[in-house]
Amino acid sequence: MRRPLVMGNWKMHGSRASVGQLLDALIRPEQESAAEVVVCPAFVHLQQAVDVCEPSSIAVGAQDCSHMRSGAYTGEVSAGMLVDLGCRWVILGHSERRQYHAESDGLVAAKLAAALAAGLRVVLCVGETQEEREAGEAQLVVASQLHAALAEQASLTDIVIAYEPVWAIGTGLTATPEQAQQMHAFIRKELVQCEGVIPERVRLLYGGSVKAANASALFGQQDIDGALVGGASLDAEEFRQIIAAA
Ligand code: PEP
Repeated sequence: MRRPLVMGNWKMHGSRASVGQLLDALIRPEQESAAEVVVCPAFVHLQQAVDVCEPSSIAVGAQDCSHMRSGAYTGEVSAGMLVDLGCRWVILGHSERRQYHAESDGLVAAKLAAALAAGLRVVLCVGETQEEREAGEAQLVVASQLHAALAEQASLTDIVIAYEPVWAIGTGLTATPEQAQQMHAFIRKELVQCEGVIPERVRLLYGGSVKAANASALFGQQDIDGALVGGASLDAEEFRQIIAAA
């Protein structure tokens, strides 16, 4: 059995006040849920989130981390620093990092290794652009991102994979449940190539304009084990409904 996982990626949104309100609305009253829930605020709001979430079952994750352990890397935040402040998770390889910060597959793989070594659990994002899908290359792109990141990993116990078609992120366009399921089944099949991994045990999240209105249909698919939610996770009521659907 794979426990459903719903993660909120709050990106570069919010202030101490608005993040406080959002957290309060999420933890009080705490929702009974079969799903594991993680919120990922911006770095500067992580400590606040950890402090508020501590007594609840909601875990806190970061949206990125450095591939280096420590040193003269101005502006960077190490995985060890995140663990030290109470973070349990980190999102890596998000398409916005790949696109706006030129993160290569190699850098994502190095960040993944650093995060696992520090004791974080990782959500590894993969996904194709609109052009790649139209050119019939979606599976090729996803497989290559996946294998580049996982090549050195002997175990996927602390790794969750999020399939996030770039054309569906923040656009209001969602992959149909069938399109998402097709790619998830493909990813699970690809995981057979990772030595020592039991693909059926790896959780696969879908991300890309998930909302309360489409969550149930997505979660009803055999290989969709939860969601990485951007925009809709900034609205406590909407996010709660997505959690309930999982
Ligand atoms: C994301 O950024 O991971 C995401 C899925 O965003 P949205 O839900 O807004 O499309």
